[in-house]
Amino acid sequence: MTPANLLDFDLDGLAAFCEKLGEKRFRATQLFRWIHQKGEADFSAMSDLAKSLRDKLAGVAAVTPLSVLSEQASSDGTIKWLFDVGGGNAVESVFIPEDDRGTLCVSSQAGCAVGCRFCSTGHQGFSRNLTTGEIVAQLWFAEHHLRKRLKLAPGERAITNVVMMGMGEPLQNYAALVPALRVMLDDHGYGLSRRRVTVSTSGVVPMIDRLREDCPVALAVSLHAPDDTLRDHLVPLNKKYPIAELLDACNRYLDRAPRDFITFEYCMLDGVNDTPAHAEALVEISRRISCKFNLIPFNPFPESGLVRSPRERVTAFARVLQDAGVVTTVRKTRGDDIAAACGQLAGEVQDRTNAAERMTRAPIQIHRKTKTPSSTPPEKHA
Ligand code: SF4
Repeated sequence: MTPANLLDFDLDGLAAFCEKLGEKRFRATQLFRWIHQKGEADFSAMSDLAKSLRDKLAGVAAVTPLSVLSEQASSDGTIKWLFDVGGGNAVESVFIPEDDRGTLCVSSQAGCAVGCRFCSTGHQGFSRNLTTGEIVAQLWFAEHHLRKRLKLAPGERAITNVVMMGMGEPLQNYAALVPALRVMLDDHGYGLSRRRVTVSTSGVVPMIDRLREDCPVALAVSLHAPDDTLRDHLVPLNKKYPIAELLDACNRYLDRAPRDFITFEYCMLDGVNDTPAHAEALVEISRRISCKFNLIPFNPFPESGLVRSPRERVTAFARVLQDAGVVTTVRKTRGDDIAAACGQLAGEVQDRTNAAERMTRAPIQIHRKTKTPSSTPPEKHA
């Protein structure tokens, strides 16, 4: 029998699992804390756990990490891991250090079915949903690896923020996503506040409503176009859930959201969505919902046929929004030297037949560089 992966469980799930072993909830809480707060995978090392429970767990349960295929560290401090998820598939996580926070960008699917025009992951197609354990394992590995690597003091956290902006559309993997979010939020787990955990979606309207009920965390929406005609082209999911419906769902979400605004991600594409008229149209959208805009310089990749907007045009675009009183930021690019924009590294293993070969020969690459202050998550899921 394959042992149950305890990274698959939120605390309620672990309590139910322990109950089947005849153990009380407080034992599950102890176990949960050992796994997530101390990063321990070896039951025999969980010294204050009853010997009887440790014996029961051996053979029926395991803490199953993901194998690291490669690690790359940018000169700006960004670190990117490529994880093997089996079957020739790989997913990425990216750590972005800043002065006042450490953000981990986490993947939710191997590939993605949404197929956004400007997204490297979208061009790879969809392979499969990650399990809760595979989503949590990215955080589990990164947090405990970084604590050692950065020589953090006991109790000090490496990761203060999580953004579900890696590979995949998280709201199309809802059943696995929500328990993973609960592990991140749980005080016995990673204890992150709802404001510091962000789900980024391309706009799966019914699931935005469900997330509002089940686990309202910060929400980012990949907008990328101010009108349906253009958005249909850039984000094909728009044909199913057009902008008006999306904005309605966002307004409903705000009732329960931990922040009083929605972040709209907007990837700046030369000659496509970056004119003053597009900016003015976004100003109109901002009058329908409490929001801020995050303008993202496009990270080109050959198959896209798209080009990054010139810097001056991005600045002018931002100014139109800012002059209209709309909070607008321009995302600094991070990890350019390691292709940290999400999907780029896994894109290299996109021809999935070669991925297995790559996995056998790819050495773990560590290029430790100095941390420098700067900004936000990598360009990503949107
Ligand atoms: S931007 Fe997000 S939703 Fe769109 S294809 Fe990429 S990963 Fe999927």
